[in-house]
Amino acid sequence: MYDVKSHLHEVLSQLPQGVRLVAISKYHPNEYIEAAYAEGQRIFGESHEQELRQKHTSLPQDIEWHFIGHLQTNKVKYIAPYVTMIEAVDSLKLLREINKQAERCNRVIKVLLELHIAEEATKYGLTLDACRELLEAGEWRQMQHIQICGLMMMASFVDDQEQIRREMLTARDFYDEVKARYFADDAAFCERSWGMSDDYRIAIETGSTMVRIGTAIFGPRVY
Ligand SMILES: *Cc1c(COP(=O)(O)O)cnc(C)c1O
Repeated sequence: MYDVKSHLHEVLSQLPQGVRLVAISKYHPNEYIEAAYAEGQRIFGESHEQELRQKHTSLPQDIEWHFIGHLQTNKVKYIAPYVTMIEAVDSLKLLREINKQAERCNRVIKVLLELHIAEEATKYGLTLDACRELLEAGEWRQMQHIQICGLMMMASFVDDQEQIRREMLTARDFYDEVKARYFADDAAFCERSWGMSDDYRIAIETGSTMVRIGTAIFGPRVY
């Protein structure tokens, strides 16, 4: 088996205080997750509903599951009973559905708004203007079963470190703007989720509070 334990500690040793690790376990077997769990890791991220459901059912119940992928509205009901955070909310429609399903479960689900900043056309997420519009419209203020905890983004998948840094700085500036304008009195709005295996060091330098790391802990994914 891949040496999850030492790779996990290698990553953890580089995270300053205030930066939490979401261990991205998609496509990796339960025994890999159990190895990280045995070392104290409790936050794991998955991007497919069925895979998450199987893992949630068979693994320890005190794991905090984050849904990190693109989520179709018709899948929300399956994860609503147990998911801790949905990281990639990119529409009002999805936000409404999460609120509705969380209400049916008598829960509050934490969410992040996903920003589209990367230059690649295929990435999901809200443009900065679309995100401003969603927040300005204010419907979210009435939603009692979601808690907007911050912003999430993926930088472009490129070698150019300066481009990655620019995109993350754009996200951080935008976070500051939104925090001041809509969440100044809301201590729960405090998360900046960026940084993956290849760019988490830049993410830490640009104010990330939550890095999402898979490959650097669990090795290459087998699809
Ligand atoms: C898969 C994935 C990650 C982790 O990527 P690695 O390069 O394996 O660290 C992080 N965030 C999202 C949204 C992902 O889908």
